[in-house]
Amino acid sequence: MQTLTLEQETNPWEAQAARFDFAAQKLNLDQGIWKVLRYPSRELIVHIPVGMDDGSIEVFTGYRVQHSVARGPAKGGIRYSPDVSLDEVRALASWMTWKCAVVNIPFGGAKGGVICDPKKMSQGELERMTRRYTAELMEFIGPEKDVPAPDMGTDEQTMAWIMDTYSMHMRQTVNAVVTGKPVNLGGSRGRKEATGRGVSVVCDEAIKHLGMSIDGCRVIIQGFGNVGSNSAKLLAQKGYTIIGIAEFDGGLYNPKGIDIPALIEHRKNAGTINGFTEAEAADKRELLTYNCEILIPAATENVITSKNADRIRCKILCEGANGPTTTIADEILADKRVFIIPDILANAGGVTTSYFEWVQDRMGYFWTEAEVNQRLDNIMTESFNDVVTYAQNHGVNNRIAAYMLAIDRVAYTTKQRGIYA
Ligand code: NAD
Repeated sequence: MQTLTLEQETNPWEAQAARFDFAAQKLNLDQGIWKVLRYPSRELIVHIPVGMDDGSIEVFTGYRVQHSVARGPAKGGIRYSPDVSLDEVRALASWMTWKCAVVNIPFGGAKGGVICDPKKMSQGELERMTRRYTAELMEFIGPEKDVPAPDMGTDEQTMAWIMDTYSMHMRQTVNAVVTGKPVNLGGSRGRKEATGRGVSVVCDEAIKHLGMSIDGCRVIIQGFGNVGSNSAKLLAQKGYTIIGIAEFDGGLYNPKGIDIPALIEHRKNAGTINGFTEAEAADKRELLTYNCEILIPAATENVITSKNADRIRCKILCEGANGPTTTIADEILADKRVFIIPDILANAGGVTTSYFEWVQDRMGYFWTEAEVNQRLDNIMTESFNDVVTYAQNHGVNNRIAAYMLAIDRVAYTTKQRGIYA
């Protein structure tokens, strides 16, 4: 794999491109298709004026990038964060293409983002920004074109505003324009927990594959938001011992296991995991290097880098977040024989249930939670086995196997459709 400078190491677009190039080379991918799939097909930049609560006007910059529509409408979340950049959105859009292909659902990849700090904005400001951002994207998105979903800093309320704004412009209710909506507005049962559920299913499969047991299996999770808290809850229910939780403002450690429902309740009331008395306070960064069987980064990108990879001591790294491990860290972890469940597989439960939501909206017929969960479990189990078998057959690691499998599927469809001229 090519050597990257430190700056390139943490640039998600460079990291995505390096892995894509490596996998494409392994696949002996046709040069023309290589060029088609390496770059996003469309990128939109918008400047969004918003009337703020104090009477002033602020202008926020937003993006929507569609990487590929070869296998179906583009699909991907919208992120509100001060760190959003075009390169990040590009990388996340490409990852969505590969992720949808790994789990074999009929979507391409997209991602959106707005540079803002949602924690410092009122609900009214967020609503006005979301509605204006949606209005700017009117021609870009749609149930058959590009279907947004929540990501960091956005939630089901954000999706409800997008759905309503789009519907007002279309003069009819179009609930299939976004996924991750509230259930009463056409959301799917099971969507909120879906990414965490998918994480728990691939952890089950990994320990089966490695001949380990759930009993005594210690788990550390970074991030206690949607993905982290639901992964923790579901894994604890299955009998795993959650010994550590790291958040942006602190960490918790209890070698006997943290009571996850109690911590969720504490976080709801206190607004932070800090001050939870049934675990000791721990350094949020050091927690990642504690001894455990499974480490789940479920917060953000670039948390396992050349700076800490040599101190990581887990047996399984299950990437709940997108892009938590840099390419240099990958090589270090490979030397340490850490079994990696790559992001484009590990956190694909969310987009899989988003696909179910889109299907249900278009049918106007909604499934029970048990039906949704069963279908999700089947897809995640099958996809895990596809990736691991591919890795064994081609003598590559799981991440490169997942990329190769995905690129192969997208390249096949792209060739079959042909290049429109
Ligand atoms: P979220 O906003 O609900 O939760 C993220 C949590 O991580 C927050 O509690 C935040 O305080 C914490 N955090 C942020 N930076 C941190 C840091 N440096 N150290 C420790 N904690 C930190 O977001 P989410 O939806 O749970 O998404 C988390 C990750 O999972 C992102 O990478 C996202 O792209 C990815 N992902 C989410 C979904 C989904 O369905 N929500 C699906 C696939 C992938």
